[in-house]
Amino acid sequence: MTDHLASVTAAFEAAYGHSPTGIWSAPGRVNLIGEHTDYNNGYVLPFAIDRRTWAAVGVREDRTVRLRSTFADEEIVASLDALSPDTMDGWSAYVLGVAWAMADSGIDLSGATGLDILIDSDVPVGAGLSSSAALECAVGKAFDELWGLGLDKLALARIGRVAENKAVGAPTGLLDQAASMLGEEDHVVFLDCDTEDARPVALHLREEGLQILVMNSNVEHEHATGGYGDRFASCANGATALGVTTLREIGQADLARAEEVLDEETYRRVRHVVTENQRVLDTVDTLGKAGPRAIGELMGASQASMRDDFEITVPEIDLASEAAVAAGAIGARMTGGGFGGSSIALVPADKTDAVAAAVTTALADAGLREPTIFTVTPSQGARRDI
Ligand code: ADP
Ligand code: MG
Repeated sequence: MTDHLASVTAAFEAAYGHSPTGIWSAPGRVNLIGEHTDYNNGYVLPFAIDRRTWAAVGVREDRTVRLRSTFADEEIVASLDALSPDTMDGWSAYVLGVAWAMADSGIDLSGATGLDILIDSDVPVGAGLSSSAALECAVGKAFDELWGLGLDKLALARIGRVAENKAVGAPTGLLDQAASMLGEEDHVVFLDCDTEDARPVALHLREEGLQILVMNSNVEHEHATGGYGDRFASCANGATALGVTTLREIGQADLARAEEVLDEETYRRVRHVVTENQRVLDTVDTLGKAGPRAIGELMGASQASMRDDFEITVPEIDLASEAAVAAGAIGARMTGGGFGGSSIALVPADKTDAVAAAVTTALADAGLREPTIFTVTPSQGARRDI
């Protein structure tokens, strides 16, 4: 057992006075490219990162669920017989919401045992790295195994999304949960959010001597309210005005008509989604034909589209991306839902320190908030650890 798993086990034993049945974990994620395309039934290209959320879980003999996290002080107690999105508050909705979403999707939980659950994580919260999906997928994997449900990874990803949409109330797509469930070492997950087909695409970062830097702006975002919901609504309105169900159905050839039909702002929102979908396809193609050193321009075009057309970046993110490229990054762009969070830079390994230092200096010189910068490695998705 690693030191970390031993300390999670010890925390569980201190909280509940008995040993866990097992520990399951799931990673946060970084989206390489394809932002706000998921809920428009488009394409995304995320990878699971080497930062995880662990769920130590012990089986009980009744139908009670007790819930603790190293991130909060309180103990939450709920009954499997009385799960409802209306009665779930705060962080517990991400866990209890998964059980509720299973039942809501028709899975019979009448024979399910109660559970004692302790959550621990090294995924930064609210940094655009999807600590929420890491939590949903870690407990989803644990529930599946402990309750003998036999669900596959994609089914568990879908259940995590339902929990996030309906129990938490954040109108997000399948991107985060798909990455957290399906991630593989040194691969991105190419997900078609319309058909929900997913396949791993090799990144070859190691062999090319590249690293990915995450530059957390430390500006916190809030998905359930505010700008994210506005963008979601703009896309839905744009689709309605264009006579399609989702923006997935239109391509670059339709943009001229869209410009005539839509108001100026909605047009720019639509243009982001349409061009971003194409950039995901182009990135998959480029990775296969020319490798990761050739995707810098696509990353830059995505960053510009998020900044100018979709308007979801903040000054810290824009400047960090620019400074990273000026200091030798192959490409840089915001990742995640936006309005804060993180950007990423694809960097030759020997320039990682110089790029990080240049970004920190640029933000300080501009009088902006100090970023937290670290590397991430594309890693394995949800799994049982012990
Ligand atoms: P992100 O997914 O980008 O980190 P979200 O706002 O979607 O940000 O999700 C963050 C929320 O998820 C937290 O506010 C908390 O409610 C819940 N959460 C994430 N990690 C944990 C954890 N380790 N323990 C308890 N709750 C967590
Ligand atoms: Mg989230």
